[in-house]
Amino acid sequence: KSGFVTIVGRPNVGKSTLMNRMVGEKIAIMSDKPQTTRNKIQSIYTQENYQIIFLDTPGIHKPKNKLGEYMVRSAQQTLNEVDVVLFLIDDTANMGGGDQFILESLKGIKTPIILVINKIDKIPPDAYEKMYHLYNETGIFEEIIGISALEDINIQKLLNKIIAFL
Ligand code: GDP
Ligand code: MG
Repeated sequence: KSGFVTIVGRPNVGKSTLMNRMVGEKIAIMSDKPQTTRNKIQSIYTQENYQIIFLDTPGIHKPKNKLGEYMVRSAQQTLNEVDVVLFLIDDTANMGGGDQFILESLKGIKTPIILVINKIDKIPPDAYEKMYHLYNETGIFEEIIGISALEDINIQKLLNKIIAFL
């Protein structure tokens, strides 16, 4: 099995940390430079029975100009071309503007989307429940999973969910 995955989420939700956790620091090809090209391979995770190719998607945020609009459109094109999209959120913004905009951008996407609630190591259970229900109501997620990229909680479970869609 092999397929393409992209991770979207506003800054500081833990995208880089998760990528490192899944792929391993040594073989992750990481770049924090702003992306101007589409479908850039960010890292490749190869196991005996499967391979996951992570594609970088330029940031999805409210465009301020024509270039920004172009970037969002090309990001959406990438989202439609991959096998699985991971939408990463954390406890800080409470479905704030950044999360809302990405959520709206995800609504027309045909690719299965996994909502990944990161930083569960510091989210109280009742707050987690609230987030879960709020996002579940949108009806756009194939799966919802709570993880901690930092403390290595549910990472293999997430990988298994990804693999199921490849
Ligand atoms: P990115 O901007 O989405 O790539 O986010 P980063 O991976 O750079 O992470 C932003 C901050 O969140 C860093 O200080 C990370 O250490 C922290 N962080 C990432 N994942 C977790 C987590 O699971 N739990 C906690 N408590 N902090 C995390
Ligand atoms: Mg990052």
